[in-house]
Amino acid sequence: MEKPKTAVITGSSSGIGLGVARGMAASGMNVVMNGIETSGDVEESRSRIEQDFKVKAVYSSANLMTPEGALELMSTAEDNFGSVDVLVNNAGIQFVSPVEEFPDEKWQAIISLNLSASFFTSKAVMAGMKSRKWGRIINIASAHGLVASPYKSAYVAAKHGIVGLTKTLALEAAEHGVTVNAICPGYVWTPLVEKQIPETARSRGITEEEVRRDVLLAAQPTKNFVTVDELADLAVFLCSDGAKSITGTALPVDGGWVAH
Ligand code: NAD
Repeated sequence: MEKPKTAVITGSSSGIGLGVARGMAASGMNVVMNGIETSGDVEESRSRIEQDFKVKAVYSSANLMTPEGALELMSTAEDNFGSVDVLVNNAGIQFVSPVEEFPDEKWQAIISLNLSASFFTSKAVMAGMKSRKWGRIINIASAHGLVASPYKSAYVAAKHGIVGLTKTLALEAAEHGVTVNAICPGYVWTPLVEKQIPETARSRGITEEEVRRDVLLAAQPTKNFVTVDELADLAVFLCSDGAKSITGTALPVDGGWVAH
C-alpha cells in the first residue's frame, strides 16, 4: 500500500484552514495543523480528525510571523512524517483603515503573515517536493488577490503578492511534478464572519438579513457566502492526478465577485 501523504495546513486551528485540514484527512492524508492557539485549545479538533478519518494529525503552534516560525513548523512535519507532500498556506490576518492612518506595525504584520510566511514555508519544502517528483502548494489568497477594496491596503497588497508568488513558483516547479496554485475566496461563512453580524446590525440600526445582503455580500453577486467545505473540496481536487496540469492559477471561488 502507498505511504499516506502528508499535508501541512497553516492557520488550521479554525475557519477555512480547519476545513481544508479535515478535507485532506478525509482523502487519506496525515495532517499537520497550525495556529497561534495552544495545543489544549485545538485538542478537540485535532483528535476528532484522527477519529473521523483514521489518519494521524499533529498540531504545531509555530508563530509564522518570522522565518524561524516557518522552519519550526516544517521541522515538526518532517520529524513526525518524514516529508511534506502538500503545503496549504492559509494563515492570515486583516486590518482595515484609511492609508493615512494605517499603523506601520499592522502593515508589517500583514505582509509578514499573509505574504512572507508563504515564501518561507514554500522555500523549506520545494527541494524535497522536486526530488520526489510530486508536490502540491496551495495558497489561500482572496478575491482581494485579484481586485481591491478601499481601506485594506496591506491585505490587498499581500494577497496580490501571493498571486505573484504562486505564478513564479509554479514556473520554477513545472517540470518536477509540483503544482502551485492560489484559491481566491470571496466572503466565506466562518465563525469570524458569523460573529460580526449581530454587532454590525446593532451599530448600523439594520436587520441581520440586511447586514448579510447589503454590507457583507454587496460585492458577491450570488448573495450567498462561500462555504468552507467548497474550498476544502477544491483544495483536495488540486491534490488529485486530475489536476496535475492546473498550475500557476488564481482560482476565484467568490460567487461571481471578480466578474464585476
Ligand atoms: P480565521 O481567523 O478563522 O483563522 C486564521 C488562522 O490563522 C487561525 O488558525 C489562526 O490561529 C492562524 N494564525 C493567526 N496568526 C497566526 C500566526 N502569527 N502564526 C500562525 N498562525 C496564525 O480566518 P479564516 O477566515 O479562516 O481565513 C483563513 C485565510 O483565508 C486567510 O488567509 C484569509 O485572508 C483568507 N480568506 C478569508 C476569507 C473569509 O471571508 N473568511 C475570504 C478570503 C480569504
